[in-house]
Amino acid sequence: MRIAVVGTGYVGLVSGACMAEFGHQVTCVDTNPDIVSRLSRGEPTIYEPGLDDLLQRNIKANRLSFTTELAGAVAEAQAVFIAVGTPSRRGDGHADLTYVFAAARDIALHARNGAVIITKSTVPVGTASRLRDLVAEVAPLKKLEVASNPEFLREGSAIQDFMHPDRVVVGTTSEEARQVLKEIYRPLHLRETPILFASCETAEVIKYAANAFLATKISFINEMADLCEKVGADVQDVAKGIGLDKRIGDKFLHPGPGYGGSCFPKDTLALLRTAEEAGVPLRLVSATVEVNTTRKQNMARRIIEACGGSVAGKTIAVLGLTFKPNTDDMRDSPALDIVPALQKAGAFIRAYDPVGMEHAAPLLPEIQFAEDPYSAMKDASAVVIITEWNEFRALDLTHVRRQLKEPVFVDLRNIYRSADMAAAGFRYVSIGRPQLPPVEVEAERTPASVHPLKSAAAE
Ligand code: NAD
Repeated sequence: MRIAVVGTGYVGLVSGACMAEFGHQVTCVDTNPDIVSRLSRGEPTIYEPGLDDLLQRNIKANRLSFTTELAGAVAEAQAVFIAVGTPSRRGDGHADLTYVFAAARDIALHARNGAVIITKSTVPVGTASRLRDLVAEVAPLKKLEVASNPEFLREGSAIQDFMHPDRVVVGTTSEEARQVLKEIYRPLHLRETPILFASCETAEVIKYAANAFLATKISFINEMADLCEKVGADVQDVAKGIGLDKRIGDKFLHPGPGYGGSCFPKDTLALLRTAEEAGVPLRLVSATVEVNTTRKQNMARRIIEACGGSVAGKTIAVLGLTFKPNTDDMRDSPALDIVPALQKAGAFIRAYDPVGMEHAAPLLPEIQFAEDPYSAMKDASAVVIITEWNEFRALDLTHVRRQLKEPVFVDLRNIYRSADMAAAGFRYVSIGRPQLPPVEVEAERTPASVHPLKSAAAE
């Protein structure tokens, strides 16, 4: 089938490439010429494991192409996906639908008669209906269907998630649209992936309900972590103990510095606005958002306490800046709260992230970037793990001790065992676990190398 995908960011690019892999003929459109020229050369514009190969294979097979020319791309397409951003609207937290409506208007003008326009962007309930009105106004002589197909992929495992989803959700009441979407997802249907057909309104609510529920699980376990710290319990064991119950499940029960990323923060806020307008306040979602916001703000205080109550004039090494591992996405990352708060308290930050430093540089202009984790720690008064990249899971603890001025290790992702860290001589602070007194260990110290990205302010 000929498919156009409008918006070639994290979702549009992965969806477009995966649908080409299914065997469809896909053209991805983006207004950003730099994105289009890089992708046309087979060069990924985002960091996502496995994307290089997928892109190159499908471009080579002539099933996947990229353009800035929307008119040509949609003219022949039977299905046109909208995958543009829906960021938080400044001031009220509602989803900003400016890009969605702009794209829909252009698509309606240029689409062929009988095409199906499908929202893959996360949009508030009622958007499909508004799009239907818009399309009828812009192209009154064409028969164009509007459907909703929310996306559930996770950055960092996006290709796997798109190719092997738990389910596909389709909102439509049109038989033609249903057949088109069935055909697009036929390879998944053959693998017995559940495909849930519902009304557009229901599909739109499913997406927000799913994200709000997952965010609630995270805020819940984070509050349990706070309780565990006060009463001498271990939240890791609590998470395991409840997660083994199949009614609860073990996913999204990892305590940490609070959720971030391009979806949960903005989607929970948008859902709250929608619910307010409908006169149905969602108290659980509201509490989830509040718990998360204060949690992110409190993380810096936890680090300052671990450093003896002050970080003024001290160097703090930060490992991991992206909102989670295996992505270069910095949107709403906890690092964006933690780092400025430490700087405000007088700390100098030296950071290392395996792929996120380029995106982090303009957002955190006052920090110095290091070439590797150990260089970041050189002469630092503490090391803080914000993102649980695999390469931070097996640090050489003797080398870490040698680099640090003081043996303070703050692990906001609980990737080390408290007993091992105490035995290695660290004052080890983690989340929701009892703190053990460090064992006395002698350590010699060594030099640092700095990354070319280091900011002028850091020189
Ligand atoms: P993104 O910001 O990475 O990408 C959006 C792209 O759309 C940009 O490249 C932009 O240049 C392009 N664009 C904007 N207007 C355009 C237009 N009129 N024509 C063509 N291109 C245009 O966004 P994203 O993270 O891919 O998210 C897209 C949507 O998918 C959002 O609604 C988001 O909530 C949802 N979503 C995201 C994820 C995720 O993990 N990122 C997961 C599920 C759903």
